[in-house]
Amino acid sequence: MQFRDLKVQYTALKDEIDASIAEVIESTHFISGKQVNELEEKLAEYVGVKHCITCGNGTDALTLMMMAWGIKEGDAVFVPDFTFFASGEVVSYAGATPVFYDVHADTFNADAESLEEAVRAVKAEGKLNPKAIIAVDLFGQPADYENLQKVADKYDLLLLEDGAQGFGGRIGDKKACSFGDAATTSFFPAKPLGCYGDGGAVFVNDDDIADYLRSVRIHGKGSFKYDNIRIGVNSRLDTIQAALLLPKFKAFCDYELEDVNKVADLYTAQLRDNVITPVVAEGFHSSWAQYTIQLKSRKERDILQNALKEKDIPTMIYYPKPMHRQKAFDGIKQYVDYPVTERLCETVLALPMHPYLSEEQIEFITENIKYILQEDR
Ligand SMILES: *Cc1c(COP(=O)(O)O)cnc(C)c1O
Repeated sequence: MQFRDLKVQYTALKDEIDASIAEVIESTHFISGKQVNELEEKLAEYVGVKHCITCGNGTDALTLMMMAWGIKEGDAVFVPDFTFFASGEVVSYAGATPVFYDVHADTFNADAESLEEAVRAVKAEGKLNPKAIIAVDLFGQPADYENLQKVADKYDLLLLEDGAQGFGGRIGDKKACSFGDAATTSFFPAKPLGCYGDGGAVFVNDDDIADYLRSVRIHGKGSFKYDNIRIGVNSRLDTIQAALLLPKFKAFCDYELEDVNKVADLYTAQLRDNVITPVVAEGFHSSWAQYTIQLKSRKERDILQNALKEKDIPTMIYYPKPMHRQKAFDGIKQYVDYPVTERLCETVLALPMHPYLSEEQIEFITENIKYILQEDR
């Protein structure tokens, strides 16, 4: 069994994907081909923002926004303690200081109260200049943008949605990657909308920032390629990746998003009496980048993971370490406590998750989980 079965997806979409890739090879427009523009327009329309600017990967998308906002040494950028490393890495890479805040135990997402406590502590200390908030749509569910925006407004901070795992989620009718002042996503193969290599995008409404991003991603280009008006980077989405994302995006809209929600519902119905199943807040919709259960203790989690492995059921621990404990962030001051993140790192377990998981497979996985937990007790 695969944790995220990209092969079965490819089998389902093979004809369209192969034709799309072949068209690019025939055209030889490998960089900035017409499919890149076409994809950007489709994604911007779907998300409901004015501009989608694709780039090399989700980490670059975040870094490009750090550049666009002029984030620099002496600035504080607030980052959830429970997320993938890149959410905080880009802040340090920009020369600024990541200030970590805690998350909610039920949604795994940003806790606006812990965030506000961190902002106040940084202000009271007076050493760093609070500049921006990064919130993450962890495991596919949008963060609590209503309350996060309130904190951003109150302290005059920019708000960035790291939607690397969130594409396809929504709050009411408002789609993920449309929240805050700007949003980013990733097309890494295992993300909800994945390509066949690295890829990413920024979503913004602001015309000037969009212009800046379109320039800076291609060596700070001006009116044409050999007119360079600023120092930039080389971070583009390959035409082949854009081309194969077009049929994948169609399948995502036509049925994959709906199917992955059915998988989540089946898991929850089977498991809710045995483990802590993931909570989607009222009015929120997830794109289920991960289906993450919580066990009672690290011991129970590890026993379950090992026993499932013996049954050829792959599971993952996202994430085993809080951001503030990463060696790379050694010496960075902690302004608040992280009791929720500390506990989650000990007790979470992500189960196989993708839209092509069959009812039989779900049954096999959940029956094994129940059996193993019973044996253990
Ligand atoms: C995957 C991920 C990223 C980075 O995306 P890449 O395309 O791998 O660079 C950033 N933030 C979060 C929350 C992610 O899950």
